[in-house]
Amino acid sequence: MDPVHVIGAGLAGSEAAWQIAEAGVPVVLHEMRPARMTDAHRTGGFAELVCSNSFRSDDWEHNAVGLLHAEMRRLGSLVMAAGDASQVPAGGALAVDRDAFSDRVTERLRAHPRVTVEIGEVAGLPPSEWSSVIVAAGPLASPALAEAVRGLTGEDALSFFDAIAPIVHAESIDMSKAWRQSRYDKAGPGGDAAAYINCPLDNDQYERFVQALLDGPKSEFKDWENVPYFDGCLPIEVMAERGRETLRHGPMKPVGLTNPHRPDEKPYAVVQLRQDNALGTLYNMVGFQTKLKHGAQSEIFRTIPGLEGAQFARLGGLHRNTFLNSPRVLDGRLRLKADPRLRFAGQITGVEGYVESAAIGLIAGRLAAAERRGERLDTPPATTALGALVAHITGGHLEGGRGSFQPMNINYGLLPPLDEAGPKRGEDGRRLSPTERGRAKKRLMSLRALRDLDAWASGRASRAAA
Ligand SMILES: Cc1cc2nc3c(=O)[nH]c(=O)nc-3n(C[C@H](O)[C@H](O)[C@H](O)COP(=O)(O)OP(=O)(O)OC[C@H]3O[C@@H](n4cnc5c(N)ncnc54)[C@H](O)[C@@H]3O)c2cc1C
Repeated sequence: MDPVHVIGAGLAGSEAAWQIAEAGVPVVLHEMRPARMTDAHRTGGFAELVCSNSFRSDDWEHNAVGLLHAEMRRLGSLVMAAGDASQVPAGGALAVDRDAFSDRVTERLRAHPRVTVEIGEVAGLPPSEWSSVIVAAGPLASPALAEAVRGLTGEDALSFFDAIAPIVHAESIDMSKAWRQSRYDKAGPGGDAAAYINCPLDNDQYERFVQALLDGPKSEFKDWENVPYFDGCLPIEVMAERGRETLRHGPMKPVGLTNPHRPDEKPYAVVQLRQDNALGTLYNMVGFQTKLKHGAQSEIFRTIPGLEGAQFARLGGLHRNTFLNSPRVLDGRLRLKADPRLRFAGQITGVEGYVESAAIGLIAGRLAAAERRGERLDTPPATTALGALVAHITGGHLEGGRGSFQPMNINYGLLPPLDEAGPKRGEDGRRLSPTERGRAKKRLMSLRALRDLDAWASGRASRAAA
């Protein structure tokens, strides 16, 4: 059987290679380190964690990344097995000893009889005789490979200094203060004239907000060479530095909007949020890309009327990132439409985070192995965390335009809401508080996810047996 070639032994590539090998298919894993390093990696080990040592919450019942852990464990994930075996104390989070973790992943892959490791950069398009390839070269993919892929996609660029805007869970926005309306009631392509959620600020609130932006602590970022700024992504605090009125004439301009809660009072400034996913559960803060520190972001953005109780699915940030405009260029099985022998996995597909990158590696590996074996494999249902992530990058995100598709962590907003409203009372009959209701809903979504994942996995098993 011809091998599947995996480019990059990071979080995604290591998981993909493991899944392929475990499915009985030979795999060649290409890693350029230590022969050629990236700006962030320090070792030649596989699955090196470049920054924090945390896989975040391990609570599968109430936390979406914890749910992703649970789903991956059920599917025999190497990254989760090595993470569990290298755990260090971190409360409810799964944190690991990074060297022990990387050593485990490296040893298990090198010892696998169906895995061949080749050290060296794949410096351009993979040779045409590689009939099945997974590109898992990460956010710091070598420029030669990134450039070759860019040539196939027709996009202007793949690597950016990314200034990303925060994303808010729609249900946490106070609609007794905010309202739905598009500027000048203009209908969008979907025919909706109320596509935005608007939050009004009066003169004093605006002045205090601008001052908080100027005073707030900012993150430093590493200056990589030759990477363009993402179009029109000037951080809001940089705009605020240019003049107190700049934001009011830019992303916070109040024109063409009428606050139905106070129709006689013209808002001094308005923060707009735009629907971010097809489900309508997530909204991004338009033009609010920022490099303020995360704690300061939550604090300052919650001073905006309507966002006092905002729950953030993602906070803003600024960093180099190489990623595809996946909703446009990938098919539903993570293959490049322009060259389907190339499948993509990891952060380069537009997911964010160690666990999410490994999760896409897991699915890409299984899809590639099934294809090699002549079996049909569907991606997991969108009610699972794994399926929701794949759906987000291959089509769940609205528009798919370069200006709007941004890397995303897993969160419950990517999963379809429950059919029922969720429990209002606890087992003791007591009325649940909003926080308790939120937790109960998450638990029900997690239970639904694990049930649907098991059904998907057993369907696959029975297909294989047939
Ligand atoms: C500076 C920085 C800090 C981050 N911090 C965090 C964090 O704290 N927590 C978090 O959850 N996420 C973090 N991320 C985001 C992301 O989760 C990680 O980058 C994650 O490692 C992505 O997994 P991956 O497998 O897609 O890429 P990687 O883990 O980067 O793996 C890609 C691999 O491909 C190899 N490679 C690249 N090009 C080639 C080529 N042409 N030929 C052969 N091999 C190649 C690289 O050497 C690397 O080993 C950070 C990202 C960056 C850039």
